[in-house]
Amino acid sequence: MTGAVPSAAGSQFPVENLPYGVFSDLVDSTRRIGVAIGDFVLDAGAAARTAGASRAAPLAPQRAIELSAKNLNPFMAAGPTAWREVRSWLTDLLGDEENRAFVAPFLCDVTAVTLHLPFEVADYVDFYSSEHHATNVGRILRPDADPLSPNWKHLPIGYHGRSGTVVVSGTPIRRPWGQHKVPTDPAPTFAPSGRLDVEVEVGFVVGVGTELGQSVSVSAFPDHVFGACLLNDWSARDIQAFEYVPLGPFLGKSFATSISPWIVPLAALERARCTPPPRDVPLQDYLADTEPWGLDLRLELECNRTILSRPRFATMYWTGAQQLAHMTVNGASLRTGDLFGSGTVSGPTAGERGSLLELSWNGREPVLLDDGTQRSFLEDGDVVTMRAMAPGIDDTRIGFGDVTGRIMAATARS
Ligand code: CA
Repeated sequence: MTGAVPSAAGSQFPVENLPYGVFSDLVDSTRRIGVAIGDFVLDAGAAARTAGASRAAPLAPQRAIELSAKNLNPFMAAGPTAWREVRSWLTDLLGDEENRAFVAPFLCDVTAVTLHLPFEVADYVDFYSSEHHATNVGRILRPDADPLSPNWKHLPIGYHGRSGTVVVSGTPIRRPWGQHKVPTDPAPTFAPSGRLDVEVEVGFVVGVGTELGQSVSVSAFPDHVFGACLLNDWSARDIQAFEYVPLGPFLGKSFATSISPWIVPLAALERARCTPPPRDVPLQDYLADTEPWGLDLRLELECNRTILSRPRFATMYWTGAQQLAHMTVNGASLRTGDLFGSGTVSGPTAGERGSLLELSWNGREPVLLDDGTQRSFLEDGDVVTMRAMAPGIDDTRIGFGDVTGRIMAATARS
């Protein structure tokens, strides 16, 4: 059996993946929910509405209503039972070549569609959970102090970001203006960032919210989290360096955060689950690894068609489940559409560093691109692309799709 879409087998979007996104096309500019399958996008709402009237592939009417929304929020809010029902329906529908005729009218060539932000982002939090990244940054910025702060191994450090500037892959990134000052400068200057950087991260998307006062345990992670995406936390290092003491990142980060157009369901990542690195200090009970939510994702960072690094997500010290437990341990509520980033993913070797700050060691060791030019930080016109691949069942590959962005020159100011 080759399934209902022959190009799916062996691609990054096989029937074992089935990530969700939002798309429109030239024929119909309405934003609607799509499912990536091989080289195509399935119009999920239209297929579900038609299937509801068909005896061959039925689906509950409520599911068809959720899949007919303009973004994923109503479906994500419906919870794990709904997610399982739809995934099971899609697996049957797209996994059986006998459904080819039924499915064909609902398939759009992925090269002919526009992919949009797949969900309305509620709150956005970004963590700092790679020990190798935090150690590298500590060594670069605070060479005379311990690279890790005293709290680092006791809790996942994070900050609240700006949800309104989360953009979908492909959105151009304008170089931001801001204040910078190195210690030897007598006063700050106001200029476009000269140290624009990237951070390779994985994002987790909350489907089911909580009431104020409720906490989410590590084991309840899959009851609340709908899926994962790729995330590029664009960072203006010079703006960040002058502003971040004492309250953390602000304008050096808030100008844009890019995510991949596809949200990979947690169910598709079951085979990728792994045990996180050994813990060096005893953890509070609420952070105990009762469920090992390490994920064996192979990430890739590319600039202008040169692969710069291949970070492995399995090296992350804190898991998404621990981040969620920490984020809610004080009773802070969750909302459908909350997004939390893992923090820059860096491994132990130079080829696994997830930012230019680390790859160029703060500009001291510029990286060489295939076109012969060098980079310490990004230049106008540079195109950054990130990818991720996870192992799926039966030796399949679970892809996330690219998250990409081109750097635009700063706006002119008089
Ligand atoms: Ca970050």
